[in-house]
Amino acid sequence: MDREELSKRIKTLEDKMKLVSKILENMREGVLVFDEHGTVLASNPAFFEITGLCPEDLYGKDLVSLDLKWEGFPTFWEVMEVVEDEGLWRGEVWGVHKKGSIFTCEVMLLKVEKGRYAAIFLDTTDRRSLEASLRSLAYYDTLTGLPNRALLYDHLAQVVFKAKGKNRRVAVIFLDIDNFKLINDTLGHEVGDSLLKSFSHRLISHFPKNTMVARFGSDEFVVVVDSVDSVEDVEELVSGFIKNVTTPFFIEGQKIYITVTAGISVYPMDGSDPQTLLRNADIAMHHAKELGKSSYKFFTDDLNIKVSERFTLEAELRDALEKEEFVLYYQPQFDLGTSQMVGVEALIRWHHPDKGLLLPGRFIQVAEESDLIIPLGEWILRRACIDGMKLLEEGFPLKVAVNISANQLSSGNFLNRLKEILRETGFDPNYLEIEITESALMKNKQLAAEVLSELKAMGVTIAIDDFGTSYSSLNYLKYFPVDKLKIDRSFIGDIISDPNDVAIATTIIAIAHNLGLKATAEGVENEEQLIFLKLWQCDEAQGFYFSPPVTFDSLAEMLRNKNFRIKGV
Ligand code: C2E
Ligand code: CA
Ligand code: CA
Repeated sequence: MDREELSKRIKTLEDKMKLVSKILENMREGVLVFDEHGTVLASNPAFFEITGLCPEDLYGKDLVSLDLKWEGFPTFWEVMEVVEDEGLWRGEVWGVHKKGSIFTCEVMLLKVEKGRYAAIFLDTTDRRSLEASLRSLAYYDTLTGLPNRALLYDHLAQVVFKAKGKNRRVAVIFLDIDNFKLINDTLGHEVGDSLLKSFSHRLISHFPKNTMVARFGSDEFVVVVDSVDSVEDVEELVSGFIKNVTTPFFIEGQKIYITVTAGISVYPMDGSDPQTLLRNADIAMHHAKELGKSSYKFFTDDLNIKVSERFTLEAELRDALEKEEFVLYYQPQFDLGTSQMVGVEALIRWHHPDKGLLLPGRFIQVAEESDLIIPLGEWILRRACIDGMKLLEEGFPLKVAVNISANQLSSGNFLNRLKEILRETGFDPNYLEIEITESALMKNKQLAAEVLSELKAMGVTIAIDDFGTSYSSLNYLKYFPVDKLKIDRSFIGDIISDPNDVAIATTIIAIAHNLGLKATAEGVENEEQLIFLKLWQCDEAQGFYFSPPVTFDSLAEMLRNKNFRIKGV
């Protein structure tokens, strides 16, 4: 290269550098560049303006020891782990500006090149305060100061969106003051208004901070409880409040006695959008009124099981175990490449003496919450191995998949019991598959990793059940010796029409294949879904389209008649 060429290149490079630094200088977004140890290498004026920090605070220091008291960032190393794995970390961060005001930022952190990382801070402070003042005009009830119906819808939509796919429940409580009209008519509107205000105060102080209390209509209020741990907690809150209002209100020197009636709907079982959830909570409230005022009712009948009834159920379950009232049904699983039946999933049913055949939705949770899941789980495993053995002996080499719950896995004795069962039944572990949910694995990672490696060494196949429904870092997949991901049926249902579900399902298939795992779809109900799954090269599938879960005898019959290739396609 001659001198002229060289200086031309240097000039271009310089121009580029100037351009870059000019862009950085004038950017509205704050930029912070650092290396893999967190040592700050560069930043721009916008960054200093947003955070109130100055160059001396930063240059040559590292982000770990600076210990900035900003909220929203996990630790430096956690963020870096996400960046390494996913190429990008995104989050919302807020902190105190040196001048004392609060700033909020959307932050995007990415890897620029080896050992060079950049964090980009988009200041959202102004937008937020503007949003806040606009909201207060349109979104609050002027009498009580509570969020109004519009804000309630907004909030509920957000809460539901966040809960979607995370296995979280949200409770919507619809409250109506009994005979409010009478109070208004006899004592006057001013007393009525004051009563509504006092009532609002009681509501707010009764329900925990993370719940939203809104005024829905004249004497109707709605409470949204997000991330519900147990239905009993909601029940306790509601019955506590109904009791609370029986203490009289003092309004303008007079004692006023009122009662309220409540209806409760729970996401996801009673609806997946604000309209449906509110309507169903309202319906439940009207049912409660029919039963007599000052009471409450859940929309779903099952949830009306009182705590005492749960005890009865538990006792009945114990009894059922002794009397062998349980049966395993088997749902065929097909290889989508060969259209052959390659396995079955064992699903428990209970022949209840009075109530008929009960699905696990009615009892498995109670079993899991008590220690009953241990003997029940053992019974299931033994039955599945006996049946699997019969199939092998008849010349049907099918894998038998068994669902294992979190408590069963971490019971300590799980492996020994399983080995014993395999010995007793003579079933070949290479035909046994274990289905475990992500959340069960994450509950006790260390133990789960140990148990799974030993299972794997024995030849047992390991499938992650309901994959995609609970958020957890994909990282864990590397630590567990997993063979299969089962795409939850909630993503298959709308796979043809809902772009979100398409994205989730295809991503799960891609993740599985990238990690060398198989993907199984559950809940396939029609031909369109099957075609879609084949197109995306999903490996296996099960669902009502092929066959519902059937008794062992029907399964054997089906196999003998060779009536088990996938129809259609
Ligand atoms: P899961 O493991 O996700 O099981 C699949 C469920 O989807 C089964 O419900 C099955 O009947 C249903 N299903 C299969 N194909 C279709 C379809 O095409 N459409 C629809 N809408 N549903 C379909 P099931 O048998 O009521 O089981 C419910 C849940 O109970 C299971 O969900 C599992 O979490 C639990 N469970 C079932 N059996 C056992 C067991 O033996 N042990 C443990 N620990 N849990 C079990
Ligand atoms: Ca399963
Ligand atoms: Ca599932």
